Amino acid sequence: MLFRGRVGRPTVPAALCLALARSIGTIEHHGRSRCGIPFTALFCSFFLSMLIDTHGHVNLSGFNEDYDEVIRRSLENDTQIIAPSTQLPTSKKAIAIAEKYDGVWAAVGFHPTHVLNDEFDPAPFAELAKHPKVVAMGETGIDYYHVPESADLDDWKRRQRDVLQHHIDIATERNLPVITHCRVGKTPETSIAYHDLHAIIKQNVEQGKLARRGVVHCYVSDWETAKMFLDLDYMISFTGIITFAHDEVLLDAVRKIPLDRMMIETDSPYLTPVPHRGKRNEPWYVKFVALKIAELKGLTFDEVAEVTTQNARKFFSLR
Ligand SMILES: [Zn+2]
Repeated sequence: MLFRGRVGRPTVPAALCLALARSIGTIEHHGRSRCGIPFTALFCSFFLSMLIDTHGHVNLSGFNEDYDEVIRRSLENDTQIIAPSTQLPTSKKAIAIAEKYDGVWAAVGFHPTHVLNDEFDPAPFAELAKHPKVVAMGETGIDYYHVPESADLDDWKRRQRDVLQHHIDIATERNLPVITHCRVGKTPETSIAYHDLHAIIKQNVEQGKLARRGVVHCYVSDWETAKMFLDLDYMISFTGIITFAHDEVLLDAVRKIPLDRMMIETDSPYLTPVPHRGKRNEPWYVKFVALKIAELKGLTFDEVAEVTTQNARKFFSLR
């Protein structure tokens, strides 16, 4: 049953690791260095692999009280963090946090759900994007799910497109990638969010913009849609949703998307993966996303950890 991972450590299939992790819940709270149970180090090499949570909102209010503690816990658990932003204050906070920690980087941006209640001015974001620890623009994109009932859908779409275009222009100018959010609504006009996002990205790529491309974060659609983005040299990123959504269409996409085109994320403090459902999510729980990908693809945890970490290093040009 045991076989060797790429780095020569003994590894076991992902399903067994996950079962062990679930049955020895206390290890997760005490961290690998202090767990004091040697067989976990031997059998569960996922406690030793370096991971990058490519979308952990340690700069948001859900972590106001204890973000230092949360970040320290993640770094102790060998998990580095990219902190994307939602508005100007959270963009500044992401940079301030990234300045404090090796292993934490920032992305600056304006979330598409804020287009109606907050004016967007690209100038301060363009300025913040010059900071050496800013490794991407975002999150930005398209959200047709949270359209307020009072909003005019065409106006909502136009505003989101404008804001996204500003992010793409800044990313192009600063030679950064973009972190793109995409959420579909339930009507025919709002169910086409991925296609609208794809059309905008494609047009920009054809105009020679966005040389560093981007990632569709928190991907929840099918393989055919993912393929459209892969064909634009885009990356696809998965959250803990894949650990609890019994959505065969989504799981099929996970199986089919090549590992070297994937990244992993928590979107913490939201979307807590199994086995921590019901609690606040935090960046080092990203290991459960990696574990689920390993299970779905029939790979070892180490393989998923190594390749997705390598993908993130390359995508964000981390040094
Ligand atoms: Zn997010």
